[in-house]
Amino acid sequence: MNNLEIIQAFDKLVPNPKCELNYKTPYQLLVAVILSAQCTDKRVNLVTHELFKNYPTPEDMVKLTYEELGKLIFSCGFYNSKAKAIIDMSQDILHKFDGKIPQDLDKLISLRGVGRKTANVIISEAFKGDAFAVDTHVLRIASRLGLTESKNPDQVEEDLKKFFPKNSWSKLHYQIVLFGRYKCKAVKPDCTSCPFQSICKYFQGKRANNN
Ligand code: SF4
Repeated sequence: MNNLEIIQAFDKLVPNPKCELNYKTPYQLLVAVILSAQCTDKRVNLVTHELFKNYPTPEDMVKLTYEELGKLIFSCGFYNSKAKAIIDMSQDILHKFDGKIPQDLDKLISLRGVGRKTANVIISEAFKGDAFAVDTHVLRIASRLGLTESKNPDQVEEDLKKFFPKNSWSKLHYQIVLFGRYKCKAVKPDCTSCPFQSICKYFQGKRANNN
């Protein structure tokens, strides 16, 4: 399958992909994405629903200590490191960027607690820019479909950006994430009627083992 055939297949599989995290501002999305590491979007939405009532902006968030914020986000897991990341990031936004979320990748990753994947999600989702965020689902599926030989997220991002046209990156990111979340799971993917069987290394390997 060439790049356009793969895009068409994803358009059929996931016609209207969208971010499953709730937010009202780019800052809130940034907080939600940090909380979403190793946690479900559903759980993050429950936590941020309460958190953003009292702490919707970086100005509000920095009033909390790490410990206080940790208690509020406890159920998302890794609450100590996430609380530190959120408060440090909020301080950087206030002190380095006058309280505004930068739209540029280099500036976003200069914020403490913000990695490349998070920055790419902010660019594509909050600012509607062209970016290809590589998370665990994208890593797994890019590898299964033979779109990369690498396991390094930065290299996988490069490979995907070379293979697919720029205007497809952001949508494809969500399509792949949702495909990975609900069908092409890490363990026991549902390969029934999958349009990628002919190029999928996982599927080919499974079939070879059964023969
Ligand atoms: S054939 Fe199975 S493993 Fe391969 S992409 Fe489809 S669902 Fe995923």
